[in-house]
Amino acid sequence: MARRHQLQWAALLAIAVVLPTVSLLWFMSQVIANERLVVGQKLAALYQDKLADASARTTARFTARLGALEPNVSGTNPYPLLRQLVRQDQARGVVVWDAAGTVWYPQAAAVAGQDAPPGSALAEAARLEFSAGQPAQAAARYAEIAATSPAAQTVLQAQLGRSRCLAQSGQFHEAVAECARAAFASRPPNSDSSGALRWQLTVENARLLLLSLLDRAPAPADPALRERTLAALQADLFNASPDQPPLPANHNLFLAQKVLAARHATPAPPASTQRVQELEKLAAAEALSLAAAETISPQAGPSDVYFPTMVDNQSLIGLRHQARSRTVLVLLDEPALLPVLDGYREAFAKSEVACRILNPAGGLVTGLAQPKGRPFLTAALPAGFPDWQVELYFAGGDVFELAARRQIAVYIWTGVLVILLIFIAGAFAVRAVGRQIRLNQMKNDFIATVSHELKTPLASMRVLVDTLLEGRVRDEAQAQEYLRLTVKENERLSRMIDNFLTFSRMERDKVAFTLLAARPGAIASDAVAAVKTKFAAHHCVLTVAVAENLPDLTADHDAIVTVLVNLLDNACKYTTDHKQIRLEVLARERWVVFAISDNGIGLARRHHRKIFERFYQVDNSLARRAEGCGLGLSIVKFIVDAHHGRIVVESAPGAGSTFTVFLPVAGGEPRV
Ligand code: ADP
Repeated sequence: MARRHQLQWAALLAIAVVLPTVSLLWFMSQVIANERLVVGQKLAALYQDKLADASARTTARFTARLGALEPNVSGTNPYPLLRQLVRQDQARGVVVWDAAGTVWYPQAAAVAGQDAPPGSALAEAARLEFSAGQPAQAAARYAEIAATSPAAQTVLQAQLGRSRCLAQSGQFHEAVAECARAAFASRPPNSDSSGALRWQLTVENARLLLLSLLDRAPAPADPALRERTLAALQADLFNASPDQPPLPANHNLFLAQKVLAARHATPAPPASTQRVQELEKLAAAEALSLAAAETISPQAGPSDVYFPTMVDNQSLIGLRHQARSRTVLVLLDEPALLPVLDGYREAFAKSEVACRILNPAGGLVTGLAQPKGRPFLTAALPAGFPDWQVELYFAGGDVFELAARRQIAVYIWTGVLVILLIFIAGAFAVRAVGRQIRLNQMKNDFIATVSHELKTPLASMRVLVDTLLEGRVRDEAQAQEYLRLTVKENERLSRMIDNFLTFSRMERDKVAFTLLAARPGAIASDAVAAVKTKFAAHHCVLTVAVAENLPDLTADHDAIVTVLVNLLDNACKYTTDHKQIRLEVLARERWVVFAISDNGIGLARRHHRKIFERFYQVDNSLARRAEGCGLGLSIVKFIVDAHHGRIVVESAPGAGSTFTVFLPVAGGEPRV
């Protein structure tokens, strides 16, 4: 039964400790998860504004960029636009369509009218030159036309033809001189735009011929003339001047490639290096533009939006912008887009946050190359931009994680503390319950012991009285003896009941001591008288030594007698053969000392304190135990404490024991 109760208690305690602990741990894990979320949301809200600012800056740049294109898109010459885009590294190429959807730039136009009209003098000269293979006659014919023709364009073409023929006949010097005249001829005024273009192309042809003549001419070549020719050619390329019509893109690109080849053939003067580089860029842009114009339609991609496109096997970004009268397609690569995205860099420049922009493939476009941790915020680029992502990081590592971690540490420590408290409370409960269980057990034992202890003297008295009543005695002396024995048993019974009653009163705090002047000698002799019969029966040799002139005590006489009787009783009980017991009463300083020593079984050190606890017995097996139920010493201690005294035990197994009681002399201690 008791065991079942114990188990129930243990289970209850386990639940009382484990259940709150598990709940607390679960609660903590929820709080921690929540904390991360909350910190993340707080920071995200904080930087959402900055991100919006960056997005607005970027959109503003994007719009400004498109707006800056406007004046050059609506003009008559496409080259200012191309130059603007290339100079600012804004584009790899550009295509412009007019309102009807026809390509306005780059036009691959054939310019009519460079050939001589059939039946004309020029046509006759050309026949001599090309079909008849008579360069000398052709040269003379060309010279005649040049000298007589009123039309400047015809004179120019004749000079060019004469120069070709002279070169064929081996007259390089004359050929160069004639060609130089054509190459640097000044344009006649009042020519219409197609006439001007025709003139321009003829002059450029003359310059190309002059260059090849100079390169083929036997020494001495004229480097100054070559440089002058190249410079003149170069100046007319990608021509953005308003008083000269732009060359069609295919012609322009052809000439540009020739100039670049010539420039690469001989080292260019350092002053012109930059111009050559610019020319290279322009030529590359024009080549790409020509390729794009062939494959891309004016409807390609959504308007005013960057979109991915392929030109010439290159993956590029297209930006189709609907300008006032024309549609522009700007072709660019990722680096060309970076200046527009600088809005993001600027927005986060002076903050602890770094941003990076990634393309859909996860490749870094710009920003932080090696971020630490994970981004705390991601967003798409603003409208108009490709499908890229912007990510925000804390420059000094994951501040969000740090903040969350700090808070989490507080939670964890609080949790640990609470769990610790639960365990401590649990431990106290276990102790208290354990003590209660032990007490119950002791009480049960006590009842068993009391019954057992009471039964023995009662049974012997019953036998003695029965014998007397039945008259089964030999003589008067035997009857006397039986009566004495009955009295002894009765005394033993009374003492035992006294002890039980004292204990019961002690337990209920009902003991009241009558403190009066008491003489130690009288106390000792009363105690000795009380145990005399018993000692005699057990053959105990008791030596009593009471010092003379002992001071009085302020004590309850009977209570102190009980103390000594209990100690003497124990000394007799726990001694085997040749029982030698000594009671000594003496005065020491402010104390009266009662020392009871025996030559008995003694006590191990670990029991010295415990024997004063209620119901504690060193060996509590009913069979082996001497009479008693573990209350005697607890009563002794209770009485001694109530008199402000002390009790000390000196003992070792097999070496006997000495119990010494110190009681303060009258007036030595304040009384309660
Ligand atoms: P009990 O009724 O068992 O004697 P007590 O409270 O008087 O109870 O004593 C408690 C225990 O202390 C005893 O059970 C015994 O084991 C031990 N004890 C007491 N006095 C002595 C002694 N003089 N010598 C050895 N053991 C003693």
